Amino acid sequence: MIFDFMRRFRPRSEAASSQAFIARCACCGGTEFESRSVLWPELIKEWGLSRTEAAYIDRQQGTACRGCHSSLRSIALATAVMRYFDGRGTFETWVCSPAAGRLAVLELNGAGNLTSFLRRLPGHVERSYPEVDMLAMPFADGSFDLVVHSDTLEHVPDPVRGLAECRRVLRSGGACCFTVPVIVGRTSRSRAGLPPSFHGAPRANMDDYRVETEYGADAWSHVIKAGFGECRIVAAEYPSACAFTAVR
Ligand SMILES: [Zn+2]
Repeated sequence: MIFDFMRRFRPRSEAASSQAFIARCACCGGTEFESRSVLWPELIKEWGLSRTEAAYIDRQQGTACRGCHSSLRSIALATAVMRYFDGRGTFETWVCSPAAGRLAVLELNGAGNLTSFLRRLPGHVERSYPEVDMLAMPFADGSFDLVVHSDTLEHVPDPVRGLAECRRVLRSGGACCFTVPVIVGRTSRSRAGLPPSFHGAPRANMDDYRVETEYGADAWSHVIKAGFGECRIVAAEYPSACAFTAVR
C-alpha cells in the first residue's frame, strides 16, 4: 500500500535519489508500516503546497510503524537522538541502557510518539507548551543533556528565541533534537500578516496550533541564529523523515 502511494506521488528527482525508504522502525525495530492521509484541503491551500509537497508531508505525519505506532516524524527524531548519543539497538532498548539513564532530558510538548519511551528514563522531565513558556523556561542554565521537541517550534511566536532558550538550559556538549515540518524546495516564511493557519484537527483552530512560521530549506539558520555552533540534519528518509540536532 505504501509503495503504491509512493509510486503515485514520488517526484522524479526523488526517484533518482539513492535515499531508501524507511524499512525498519528506529523505535521498536518493526518492519511493517501503515499510511493514512492527514492533511486537509484548507491547510494545503493556506500552506500553498504542491501535490508532491502535500504527499511527503502526509507521509511524514500519517505513516506509522504498525508495532509501536511511531510516525515517520517520531522515527526521525529518535534517529537523531540515537546518533547524537551513539546509541545502539532500537530507541526502546536504548532508553533502558545505563548511558541513557545518566542523561537529564527535557521533553517539550510530547515529542510525537516518543513520550512513552522517554518516560522510562529516570532523568526525564516533561513539560507542555504553552503552559511552560518556551521563550522563558523555568529551568536553570545548563540543566539538561538533551532537549527534544517535535513540530512545536513552528507555533512559537519567536522561534529563534525559543531555540536560544533550549540552548540556555543545555549543558555544554548537550543537544536539542527537534522536528519541524519543512518544505525543502522553498525558504522559510513568517505567517505574520497572513490569515491565521492552524495545524492539529481540521477546523479546531485552537490557538496552541496556530502556525507562526512555515519552515523551508533554511530552517537550520534559526539554530545558528539562536547561538548553537552546529546544526546537523538527520535523515531517516528524505524528505519525509528528517530531524535537526542543534549542538551546544
Ligand atoms: Zn515501531
